[in-house]
Amino acid sequence: MNNSEYTLEQIQSFEGKYPKQLWYLFLTEMWERFCFYGMRGVLTIFMADQVLGLALSDKDANLKYGAIQAFVYAFTFIGGIFADKILGFKKSLFFGGLVMISGNILIALAPQNFFYLGITLSIIGTGFFKPNISSMVGALYKEGDPRRDAGFGLFYSGINIGALLGGFVCVYLGTNPNYGWSYAFLSAAFVMIIGLVTFVFTRKSLGPIGNSPILEVPKNTRLTREILVYGGALLTIPLIFIMIKNTEYTDYFMYTIGPLALVYFVYETLKEKEKTARNKLWAAMVFIIFSIAFWAFFEQSGGSLALFAKNNLHSSLLGFDINPNIVNNTSNSLFVIIFSPILGLVWLGMAKRKIEPNTVIKFGVGFLFLALAFYVFYYTRFFADAEGLTSLNIFTLAYLIITFAELALSPIGLSIMTKLSPQRLSGMMMGLWFLASAYGQYAAGLLGAGMSSPDENASQVTKLQLYTEGYQQLAIYALIAGVLLIAISPIVRKLMHEVK
Ligand code: GLN
Repeated sequence: MNNSEYTLEQIQSFEGKYPKQLWYLFLTEMWERFCFYGMRGVLTIFMADQVLGLALSDKDANLKYGAIQAFVYAFTFIGGIFADKILGFKKSLFFGGLVMISGNILIALAPQNFFYLGITLSIIGTGFFKPNISSMVGALYKEGDPRRDAGFGLFYSGINIGALLGGFVCVYLGTNPNYGWSYAFLSAAFVMIIGLVTFVFTRKSLGPIGNSPILEVPKNTRLTREILVYGGALLTIPLIFIMIKNTEYTDYFMYTIGPLALVYFVYETLKEKEKTARNKLWAAMVFIIFSIAFWAFFEQSGGSLALFAKNNLHSSLLGFDINPNIVNNTSNSLFVIIFSPILGLVWLGMAKRKIEPNTVIKFGVGFLFLALAFYVFYYTRFFADAEGLTSLNIFTLAYLIITFAELALSPIGLSIMTKLSPQRLSGMMMGLWFLASAYGQYAAGLLGAGMSSPDENASQVTKLQLYTEGYQQLAIYALIAGVLLIAISPIVRKLMHEVK
């Protein structure tokens, strides 16, 4: 059969555990995440490189890193809306991919000169790409198909394979004197080209999924609107450029975009004619709000936990000598790659026996695991020696536990967004889900800063005490959030109607 003849019905009536299109989206997203996490991996060290980088102080590099992360995720909201209203997911993805490639090539040409411009393009490109590929995964399933969470579990492994490879390859190339920063950004661009080519070749197998939502309007009008979106996106370049160059503007941006997004969400929700659809959107908002807290804790990994790994850990893992920062940067991805598909199969098995917990409970359990993980991070203090160095084994155990927390919330969150959103708003809702990550990242930086010692020369023992105290607090808050979520689960479930 010619691929172009695929209908939605045919795609969604697949047999077996996963639709074949999921594998294509898996590969495309894997390469995109390689590019994204590769860029992210070298970001701070490149900015703080005094000779070949931007020669920023550590503090400024960290602040800028936070700002860039916040912008990347905030733009998913805008990318999601324009996909819903004008472009459709396919065109959005393609445009986003091209912009990401251009951004990385630009930086590769002259890292010190074009960095801010290139990063601005990466922010815009990711905004158009990231939410929309997840929405397409959701569209592969019929309403109520119990295989959806497992599908997102597999997709999430793809995300992490890309993240792991990208982090490794780009950091290796960037920091190796034989190669350097240009190679790191060039490899990110190259891999993104592979991702985009993969997508182009498999686009047809997606049938009508992700086509323009305004196919019925005359072709010329449609084209004009599309060009306006592309042009409008490119016109924001100077604005974003200025905002990442001056990190104090990031605060203003963060104070504005969230409330605006919320107002827009309420407007679109009230516009929904059916009460059931409105209720589902409110329920989605509950998940989104809790996810902000989740990411604020979880994202300590890039901040305070990285410093904790640098200052307070022995380098022995199960008898092998290894740099604790490598463990900090890779263990989570590795655990996700291994356990995400397994957990997906567990959900499928439970669904068959009709004992699968619903999403609210999964989220609640996610927070309980998060609490346990931070309790274990706290507990490392009881294994410390007189110099304030403690066990890398216990630290890695905490990462194993936090991975289960992530798996109970993050892929499930993507899945529930696609279950609760009406088709016309699915891009926007996925964008809102990631906007919550932007706020989580932002809050993570503030929390981490609050835990660190104001005295740069504080002893290792003092640092250990301060960080672990902070982790104990986070454990308590995560526990409270988990219990609260489970306590309000009957209300949220009512709002969700038949959705599980
Ligand atoms: N690690 C996941 C990804 O890159 C989730 C990120 C997030 O939502 N903060 O897609």
